[in-house]
Amino acid sequence: MVLVGLGSNLDSPTRQIDTAFEMLESIPGSELLSRSSLYRSAPLGGIEQPDFFNAAASMTTTLGARDFLEQLQGIERARGREPGGPRWGPRVLDLDLLAYGDRTIDETGLTVPHPGIALRNFVLLPLREIAPDFDIPGLGRVQDIAVNESEPRISRIA
Ligand code: ADP
Ligand code: MG
Repeated sequence: MVLVGLGSNLDSPTRQIDTAFEMLESIPGSELLSRSSLYRSAPLGGIEQPDFFNAAASMTTTLGARDFLEQLQGIERARGREPGGPRWGPRVLDLDLLAYGDRTIDETGLTVPHPGIALRNFVLLPLREIAPDFDIPGLGRVQDIAVNESEPRISRIA
């Protein structure tokens, strides 16, 4: 099973997330198993920008991790994501490969599990909904990973 994180804070974010779920369904050799609710959170990183909307998906795929990430990046580009931009800056669509089965990968441009999982409630809370028993390499079961109490407000909206 692979876990994907979705995020958007520009250009009708809730619509971006809906469209992204549809596009995930069309990745070759892959199947969408479940999608989380939608969450809204204040931006991190001190840049003045709109709130973020986030969700997560669980999928199966026959693609390798790098090919799968390339599919995710193709979807980001198709939605008009500009290359570059500040690390914590606004984006039309952000698709992260959060976990790829039990694999640990640390290559240029591909780190799996995604290093943000344990740090960001907007990743953790949607994951708890769709994959509570999933064992994230190095972190343990999703439902046992503690939420970050110091993070700004986050609410489940749909
Ligand atoms: P964020 O970490 O906030 O999602 P970006 O989406 O701007 O930041 O980062 C994109 C870069 O992160 C890409 O160059 C991509 O190659 C790299 N990257 C490394 N590991 C992953 C991963 N597991 N999922 C998505 N992008 C990754
Ligand atoms: Mg990303």
